[in-house]
Amino acid sequence: MVEQQIKTAVVTGASSGIGEAVARRLAADGYSVILGARRLDRLQALAQEIGGIALFLDVTDSTSVARFSHQIDGDLDVLVNNAGGALGLESIAEFDEEKWFSMYQSNVLGLVRVTHALWPKLGQARNGAHVINIGSIAGIETYVGGAGYTACKHAVRAISETMRLEWLGKRIRVTEIDPGLVETEFSLVRFSGDKTRASAVYAGMQPLRAEDIAESVSWVVGLPAHVNVDQLIIKPTDQARMDLVYRGRGNVS
Ligand code: NAP
Repeated sequence: MVEQQIKTAVVTGASSGIGEAVARRLAADGYSVILGARRLDRLQALAQEIGGIALFLDVTDSTSVARFSHQIDGDLDVLVNNAGGALGLESIAEFDEEKWFSMYQSNVLGLVRVTHALWPKLGQARNGAHVINIGSIAGIETYVGGAGYTACKHAVRAISETMRLEWLGKRIRVTEIDPGLVETEFSLVRFSGDKTRASAVYAGMQPLRAEDIAESVSWVVGLPAHVNVDQLIIKPTDQARMDLVYRGRGNVS
């Protein structure tokens, strides 16, 4: 069993990108960080570096989520529901049911599964708890070929709002953070490992770094317990809308 700490944070999807940066940042802020994802080797390396705890977690599998939750002893101060991503860019006419199902499993059901399993530990946190849901501007906008992913992130929005309604009076803060383009493994996963297609997403523009999102997580959790930031929309300066990006910067890295 994992020992109880004064300030403990769980970060799902901590094996890369935003989740990894958030885990690093919360550890630097003094949290004991519990890292969850499927690639345990990466998690273990990160846990060793930041003094955290690495636990296998597949948010699409209820048994895995239950096992993850049982390995955490004591109350939780912060839960960052970050695991997820997009698969493909097919139009509705080209509907790929397997990809849609998979996206719903991780982005939507996975978020609720983990929150439900950890709820008793969050509900008991002495100084109040904080749930951060990593949504997307895809939860606010739509784009051609994006319906599977945008529908998932719109659902994350609805769930975040419902959490605030249902938990009123329980001293649990709920923040939804909605990033625009962040350069991570996101596009590589979306395009099944196609590096050329993935790098084209960020061509000629300056995307956000995962650390930019981690900074916002650090800020919202660090605010006094009576202050709840409901939603943060964070986009690169070069992005006006999902599908409207300035690409005149040549090679940016
Ligand atoms: P990423 O680098 O691909 O990271 C995704 C993380 O989610 C990985 O750690 C992955 O770990 C984990 N994950 C995926 N499926 C999982 C599962 N079934 N169980 C447990 N963990 C799972 O992409 P990212 O950009 O950091 O994405 C993080 C979140 O930000 C996602 O929710 C994404 O939708 C959102 N977001 C990203 C962007 C962007 O432009 N990058 C913009 C807006 C929102 P394993 O594969 O090891 O399990």
